[in-house]
Amino acid sequence: MNYISTRGQSPAVGAAQAILNGLAPDGGLYVPETLPRFTEEELNALPRMSYRDTACLILGKYLDFSPARIRRMVRKAYRGFDVPEAVRIMDLAPNRSVLELWHGPSCAFKDMALELLPYLLTESMKAEGIRDTVHILTATSGDTGKAALVGFADVPRTKITVYYPDGGVSPVQEAQMTTQKGRNVNVVAIHGNFDDAQTAVKRLFGDSGLAARLADRGERLSSANSINWGRLLPQIVYFTYTAARKPGVNFSVPTGNFGDILAGYISREMGAPIGRLHCASNENKVLTDFFATGLYDRRRPFKKTCSPSMDILISSNLERLLYFATGDAALVSAFMADLAEKGYYQIAPDLLEKLSAVFTASYRDDAATKSAIGALYRDAGYLMDPHTAVAFAGIADREEPFVVLSTASPYKFPETVLEALGLPFEPGFPALEKLSQSVSLKLPKSLAALPGLRRRFREVREPDELSSLL
Ligand SMILES: *Cc1c(COP(=O)(O)O)cnc(C)c1O
Repeated sequence: MNYISTRGQSPAVGAAQAILNGLAPDGGLYVPETLPRFTEEELNALPRMSYRDTACLILGKYLDFSPARIRRMVRKAYRGFDVPEAVRIMDLAPNRSVLELWHGPSCAFKDMALELLPYLLTESMKAEGIRDTVHILTATSGDTGKAALVGFADVPRTKITVYYPDGGVSPVQEAQMTTQKGRNVNVVAIHGNFDDAQTAVKRLFGDSGLAARLADRGERLSSANSINWGRLLPQIVYFTYTAARKPGVNFSVPTGNFGDILAGYISREMGAPIGRLHCASNENKVLTDFFATGLYDRRRPFKKTCSPSMDILISSNLERLLYFATGDAALVSAFMADLAEKGYYQIAPDLLEKLSAVFTASYRDDAATKSAIGALYRDAGYLMDPHTAVAFAGIADREEPFVVLSTASPYKFPETVLEALGLPFEPGFPALEKLSQSVSLKLPKSLAALPGLRRRFREVREPDELSSLL
């Protein structure tokens, strides 16, 4: 499979090169030249296929590795998950289910991709004969950081540096990252918000002086953010797996960088029986406004919410959707230039209409989010985290069948969850303990161990200092 840039100014490359590069040289994102489709036979077989077999089928369509190699990677990636199928579908009401994606080591859905990415990257290095060390740079709004650190810790010939917004992640998320073990890991807090961190990291990828300096010491850069195709690809699997079991279902997806929901779109384009996709946002509702008006406008105050992993105003993967929907790299480049220079872009009414045939959108503020957590726990005894709650509340009054993507364990955000349940608490580790004593959901082992771990990383830096630190 060949990959091309959404901005049309980079040479086509194979899958291994696309994964190694992360971002295309012209600043665009890699997309497959054509989206493969499931055959009739595959669609008939999918409802009975295990999660791992579904993963092998889908990865095989996009990668140039042998089926045996892909099978080995998939088996290794999902062995540390605490449910047999790696994901779990919970049916809560006749037309309402939750797809739990947080049974991996970091307790967030990012593990679904980031437990696989190190294998994809290592195989890609082999395939391309790369002898350098690949240095992964990752901006995180909280969950990608830990998942990437766990995935890459002590993986030979890789290094990883994670940047998170200082004060912009939950206490549990911060503790997860700053206590990470491994000789090849580093964690740096940034003065600023997630967008500042993401923009600073994108700048590092475009910094030719830095690239030359790193090349001298045998290093090259890559990314574990969802700008990397290797991050998106594994996410197509759970949409396909779930839709095969609930044909025609709609998905409600708590959205930040638009990576997760885009994987749903790709699954649908491949022919998986998916109805529509609901883009659920918190008060940073750039995407809700975009789907309502066709105007993407980041010129607004950044809000800190109780669903911090979605506190994002620049949703990078929307660029891929615009490319898939138009096939017009020049148009996409113009939109992205407008966004960078003016802070907004406007799509034409016919394009908006086309997108609206697939996507609906809503946003919920913190009060509505917490009240959804409390209500579902009272009514059904089911506890959800604030990100899941945004997506659950967003479609609460819709009658069609919906699967809500559950993207994090409630234990990653114990303060918000306790508040939603009306229970008093002290923030940080005491809240974690209090929640585990108050509900029947089991505290994951990795989080139970957190209070006993030594904090290794305390650095706080300005976004424009990052190049000199590498
Ligand atoms: C990253 C994240 C999201 C948003 O996913 P995107 O792919 O960025 O849209 C939602 N919920 C949680 C818990 C996350 O960590």
